[in-house]
Amino acid sequence: MKVDFEKYPDQLVPAIVQDHQTQKVLMLGFMNPEALHQTESTGKVTFYSRSKKRLWTKGEESGNFLELRSIAADCDHDTLLIKAHPVGPVCHTGADTCWSERNHSEDFLQYLEDIIDLRRQASPDTSYVAKLFSKGINKVAQKVGEEAVELVIEAKDNNDALFLNEAADLLFHYLLLLNAKGFSLQDVVEILKDRHSK
Ligand code: AMP
Ligand code: ZN
Ligand code: ZN
Ligand code: ZN
Repeated sequence: MKVDFEKYPDQLVPAIVQDHQTQKVLMLGFMNPEALHQTESTGKVTFYSRSKKRLWTKGEESGNFLELRSIAADCDHDTLLIKAHPVGPVCHTGADTCWSERNHSEDFLQYLEDIIDLRRQASPDTSYVAKLFSKGINKVAQKVGEEAVELVIEAKDNNDALFLNEAADLLFHYLLLLNAKGFSLQDVVEILKDRHSK
């Protein structure tokens, strides 16, 4: 692979890191020839840190390494695209990418799952989730059934607001049931993806 390091002061070429599975843009760093070499030889994405003024393997302190999957230079060889598997949150703020806000809608269901995890440990007096969980898994499953029936009923009418509200109720209780069974929405997504690929 040809890389035009000479184009930049200190031979620092911008390197965009992308999640090899989700295609999310994770972070931007800079690589000099040593950083690129170390990335290739260790399989852990390594930059030259302009603030630390040394080679920096992402994850060296946090353990949140970026495991290398592929490296490609762009059309004129002056920018790198690194595809990697993030072992943990990529941003030092704890967010999964350097551009994510925790409750952007694409992540909102995941965020909601985290909230459900927290709320089920709260007191049943103050938390609807904790109260429902305290009644046992059959009660959670029964609520999913009830919300599904309510949604079916609203589907027959022409009130969009009521229909959408019941759709939200069903989705919320569906997440509760998955959580109660020890699963997350991602487990279901994996099955759908698997079916889709066949
Ligand atoms: P890490 O490489 O994850 O062990 O983090 C070590 C240090 O590098 C952190 O304390 C931050 O100062 C910095 N850092 C970590 N992740 C990023 C990032 N995505 N972008 C910029 N700086 C980072
Ligand atoms: Zn270019
Ligand atoms: Zn960041
Ligand atoms: Zn309802």
